[in-house]
Amino acid sequence: MFTWLKTRWHRTGLTAYISHPDCLKHFMGVGHPECPERLTAIRDQLMASQIFDSLQEVDAPLVTPQQLARIHPPRYVEYLESCSPSVGSFRIDADTAMSPGTLLAAQRAAGAVVKAVELVCEDKAPNAFCAVRPPGHHAESARAMGFCFFNNLAVGVAHALTTYKLERIAIVDFDVHHGNGTEEIFKDDPRVMMVSTFQHPFYPYCGDEPLGPNMHNVPLKAGSGGREFREAVETVWLPQLHAFQPQMLFISAGFDAHREDDMGSMGLVEADYEWVTRHMVQIADLYCQGRLVSVLEGGYDLSALGRSVAAHLRALSDL
Ligand SMILES: [Zn+2]
Repeated sequence: MFTWLKTRWHRTGLTAYISHPDCLKHFMGVGHPECPERLTAIRDQLMASQIFDSLQEVDAPLVTPQQLARIHPPRYVEYLESCSPSVGSFRIDADTAMSPGTLLAAQRAAGAVVKAVELVCEDKAPNAFCAVRPPGHHAESARAMGFCFFNNLAVGVAHALTTYKLERIAIVDFDVHHGNGTEEIFKDDPRVMMVSTFQHPFYPYCGDEPLGPNMHNVPLKAGSGGREFREAVETVWLPQLHAFQPQMLFISAGFDAHREDDMGSMGLVEADYEWVTRHMVQIADLYCQGRLVSVLEGGYDLSALGRSVAAHLRALSDL
């Protein structure tokens, strides 16, 4: 017990909530589930539950070309720029499209994670949540897909590795979909370890065979709920995280495994998100001096999304 107290990091200050109105300007069509209202639903719920008072609100800057180039080759960024429509929309894949506001939103989303890294690594915030869209974990180094254009979280990880000279970073991903983009980007990087759970078989139909020894993927059957999820965290995630002893923790926080979310067929509830987040805060306190950055990915039922993010932020803020 004494050792635990001695090694536990004591966090001070308010959790950063990083977002930007430009993230509302990306629009993929009437009825598309990845809609601007997701961010307003989150903010409304945080205000209604008075969690917003316990956060410091920070505007997301634009990501710089140099920060982006650590993950995405300039030719890929130029390709996206060439696709950007001045009116209407440009379809990237069956369910991913660019509107005139998409690039700006994507630059804010990636910039938010860079800002989060700076705040947390410079002790200006104990941890941070990036309420951004478009999401990022399906975006590979040179491929937009699955509602994602830039891999926001990966850009932040690269910033932490490069600017703050960190040597071991862990990523956890509890979105209902496998974070194929993040896996493709870091599969051969011994400085990065990733643990994840996702419904399988399901979009993007991979992840059951990890691409590298630093990837610890736990596919879960459709219909899995809190019991199966918590078992995966306890038997795979936690042992791997304790063994790796990361210096910083990132969360790909997708809330589409919620039982009210029609996107997937899993049965998580707010209590599961709060439970896993408290465990991750504990890991960050043990090994990372509290450094934890969480980034919004999926979550499409507006009410469940708002309530789940509130539970996540209660745990991050230690409320
Ligand atoms: Zn998802």
